[in-house]
Amino acid sequence: MSSDISNIGIPLGGHGLPFNLMNGFGVPTKMIHPHFLKRSFLLFNGLELAYLESREPNGRYHPGVVNEIYGYINKEMDGLLSAYDKDFSDSQFITISACDCSCTTLSWLTQYLAERVEKPKLIGVGGPLVRKETLPYLNDINADFLNMGDLSSFVNYAKNTGIKEIPGIYKKRKHGFEGFGTGSPQVINKDILVKSNIVLSSPETEIEETKDSIIVNKSNENYIFAKIFGIESKCPNNCGYCASKSNITSSTEAYINAIKSVHTDEKKAVLSFYDNNPLMAPGKYKEILDSVCEAFDSVFITSFYVDPTALLNKDAKKFMDSLLKNDKIEKFTMFIGRECCDEKTAFYLGRNYFGKRRTQKMLDKENQSIKTLINNEKIAAHIPYILAPVETQETIGNRLTEIDELLKINDAVSVTVQTLKANAGTEAYKKYEPYLISPFPGYTVSNIEVPFFRSFERSYFEVGLDKNLNNNENTIKLLEDLRDQNFGRF
Ligand code: SF4
Repeated sequence: MSSDISNIGIPLGGHGLPFNLMNGFGVPTKMIHPHFLKRSFLLFNGLELAYLESREPNGRYHPGVVNEIYGYINKEMDGLLSAYDKDFSDSQFITISACDCSCTTLSWLTQYLAERVEKPKLIGVGGPLVRKETLPYLNDINADFLNMGDLSSFVNYAKNTGIKEIPGIYKKRKHGFEGFGTGSPQVINKDILVKSNIVLSSPETEIEETKDSIIVNKSNENYIFAKIFGIESKCPNNCGYCASKSNITSSTEAYINAIKSVHTDEKKAVLSFYDNNPLMAPGKYKEILDSVCEAFDSVFITSFYVDPTALLNKDAKKFMDSLLKNDKIEKFTMFIGRECCDEKTAFYLGRNYFGKRRTQKMLDKENQSIKTLINNEKIAAHIPYILAPVETQETIGNRLTEIDELLKINDAVSVTVQTLKANAGTEAYKKYEPYLISPFPGYTVSNIEVPFFRSFERSYFEVGLDKNLNNNENTIKLLEDLRDQNFGRF
């Protein structure tokens, strides 16, 4: 490990795990506090919409709106630079992980950094948005390099800056970014988990936001926190719109041993599970949970993905029942991937189970199993729905009825609805390409150029859902409006 390498990591959307891991892999990295960025980031998105909507018939954007946006971003970033002054001046790299942000935000942010930070610092962008499919649209990004590969590419680059060619690192040249390859997958062991603070002992903190400042309140006792991923990283369902991939693997033993090695006298453990479909391999997750429940007085699960059809499997059902009956598990917060209630919608979405379309019978059983599952005071659940390119009054009405029933069962249930996002390279993208809205301002990736987008790589259908639906009331109102308009796409 070269102790003189340092890196400032800025996560745009998503979580900061790659930056945690960089420390574990020997690249000292300081992550800029995500909460601070999140607050400004939400506003960035809102401002972007204003920017795009201000487009005039001559194709120009309204200068007042543009200035307002630049003014806001500069003010926020000035504060950030002064708060982390020494870190910025000491670092060799500034890396941005672009997960769920837009092209415009990325351009503005890299532009700002390129103008303000002293060279020879290197500004790099990586993450899910930097891919083969999006490369042609990234030329305006003011970065020294793009990481098109895995975390290993950046780690390799940071430790070996003398080496000219690193697979996965694309350097800015006169005519755009050039490089080759994608790097190699990472395996995480116990030591990396601990060094990366992915498993750690820490007081619980609560962030309180007042008008003028952000206050961090810490509890008096330490908890063990563990973010668990890479145990079973493949989901066999192959949904037509799915773009989730994971090239990081770990093992149950690595987690069990990491938790044991940081545990002293803490009584509580907080576990967040990030794998795509843990119910496909419940035995592996049970091993971790059994070990944690044995060693601690209370266990809190703050994130766990539930595929409602997988929930019907014998092993998965047994696993979930055992967790709910376990007195040590005090709170169990989950995401239940329901998406739709009708097989017609499942068809248009490409909502699959082991590669085959979910049938009405399966979807009806899902409805029942969700109702049984959430009828438990330990559970808090978030249930997302996706609108397909073809919906009818009936399919929207069915969602409304279901949402109404679910919300009556448990107060700690929330729902959201969004339009299908067809990521570049997915089946949904190929199927619906002629109908997609370009997410790239000024470019036409599909046949239609519409100045309305949110995420960088994702393409949406033209429904005003982005004014976002972060609470049940808005979601229901939106669905009612759509139903009353006899919403249908083609
Ligand atoms: S259930 Fe479908 S959308 Fe979810 S991870 Fe699996 S393939 Fe992807």
